[in-house]
Amino acid sequence: MPAAVPSSEPTIPTVPLTAQMLDSLRAIVGDKGLIEDEHDKQPFVIDWRGLLVGRAGAVVRPASTEEVSKVVRLCHEHGVAIVPQGGNTGLMGGATPWPAHTGIVLSLGRMNRVLDVDAVGYVMTVEAGCVLQTLQETAANHDRFLPLSLGAQGSCMIGGNLSTNAGGVQVLRYGNARNLVLGLEVVLPNGDVWDGLRALKKDNTGYDLKHLFMGAEGTLGIITKAVLKLWPAPKDVCTSWLAIRDPRAALEILSDAHAASEDNVGSCELMSRAAIDMVLRHIPGTQDPLKADTPWYLLLEWSSARARQDGTAGMSEKMAPFLADQLEAGRVLDAVIAHTGNQSRNMWRIREAVAEASRAEGPGISYDVSVAISRIPEFIDKGTKAVLDILPTIRPYPLGHIGDGNLHFSFMGPNGMDQQTLTQYTAAITRAVNDLITSMGGSISAEHGIGMDKLDELSHYRSKTELDIMRTIKRALDPQNIMNPGKVLRL
Ligand SMILES: Cc1cc2nc3c(=O)[nH]c(=O)nc-3n(C[C@H](O)[C@H](O)[C@H](O)COP(=O)(O)OP(=O)(O)OC[C@H]3O[C@@H](n4cnc5c(N)ncnc54)[C@H](O)[C@@H]3O)c2cc1C
Repeated sequence: MPAAVPSSEPTIPTVPLTAQMLDSLRAIVGDKGLIEDEHDKQPFVIDWRGLLVGRAGAVVRPASTEEVSKVVRLCHEHGVAIVPQGGNTGLMGGATPWPAHTGIVLSLGRMNRVLDVDAVGYVMTVEAGCVLQTLQETAANHDRFLPLSLGAQGSCMIGGNLSTNAGGVQVLRYGNARNLVLGLEVVLPNGDVWDGLRALKKDNTGYDLKHLFMGAEGTLGIITKAVLKLWPAPKDVCTSWLAIRDPRAALEILSDAHAASEDNVGSCELMSRAAIDMVLRHIPGTQDPLKADTPWYLLLEWSSARARQDGTAGMSEKMAPFLADQLEAGRVLDAVIAHTGNQSRNMWRIREAVAEASRAEGPGISYDVSVAISRIPEFIDKGTKAVLDILPTIRPYPLGHIGDGNLHFSFMGPNGMDQQTLTQYTAAITRAVNDLITSMGGSISAEHGIGMDKLDELSHYRSKTELDIMRTIKRALDPQNIMNPGKVLRL
């Protein structure tokens, strides 16, 4: 759901693909790696939400870094624009070509090999097209843990995760995607390969270039490989579902949980009743863990790498008295602890299926914002009021990674209102929400990035100095503006 589609299309290079270039591309990637048929191109030019529809001269699917490099060099020589794409699950339109795009979509999906797992050294070297869930499973098979975890993990790819600096439900403990990376290999916009595939925790040799490419949404180069950090596999996990008094109570519960769990809080996800009900309505097989007379719930998970041992208190033995104390304090109104894998999976399914459920529910608007953790309740109160003042029948369903100060401040359109009518209100709502979050020292994009949706918002809210630095970096690496043009920056 676009919060704010830009008022006008940015100027992008529109050098068309000639028959000769198509032949050259085919010579590099083979028939298997080139899609020219309009119908077959469709999944690559429409975004996950089904809201943005772009165009591409061809979809190119290289199978190695060498092929990526040759394709990019060819495009560079001819001034042809490139849209890098992983799993195409991004929510800001970053992986979708603009309608005016005449160049290629470069899909990393065939580069899906795990190159090395060093379980002793806790690192894994992978190609950019590996699906996140496959990497989680690979780590688990080596008794290790890759903490990056998000609702799209069955189809998003690690290159896309790093390019968006994805967040997800484990950031509280392990940090964003960029914190999980030791080294990168990147194909630059001129086709050169930067080999920064180092597995070093300490490396103070000048600028830390890898961080330029993470969160750049494919505008500075194409990530082809990564060295990822691993952690010990969790052995003792306790998941609970709490009906809570209000968002302030969520903060207080989390604050106490750190010490009570002996620093083992893995996730803490705030959900509104409206979000839960939407999932229960649309996602088959989900069951309500707890009905209570409150609009606010919390999914709290503690996990330890230490296996439960007879005679010592495990995570659930620690969680139960903690929840009893929180009940007594009036912050928790009711609670269930998952006693089986199925119960825990159901809780997580509800949390992770909100985006899918909202897509099924109908037109809506969503803002991925962050603010200092302690100000979340104030933002929810003021923000909801500001939006309802503009459109009183809009239906809020806020949720968020509350431990990260990250709120998905989301709304379904009023019952029966179509997308076009809702769009008439979005500019005013966007301004109200983003003005508020900015006035509170927060960010207009916590984890989803800028893509094309927030192009105008970034330039509205960031200072000239900050935008100038970004433009300088972009122009230095990509003077022709062929790498994902018209995303993040208009230029
Ligand atoms: C159900 C659902 C739940 C989600 N939950 C979360 C969440 O909790 N947290 C979160 O942060 N996001 C979430 N997202 C958003 C999305 O999944 C993430 O942004 C994800 O990291 C995108 O990965 P992808 O492979 O699909 O990238 P894509 O959508 O293909 O691309 C995203 C951006 O990265 C660029 N890109 C892709 N691959 C490369 C590469 N190899 N090199 C350079 N640039 C590249 C693209 O050009 C684009 O700008 C969710 C999405 C869905 C659909």
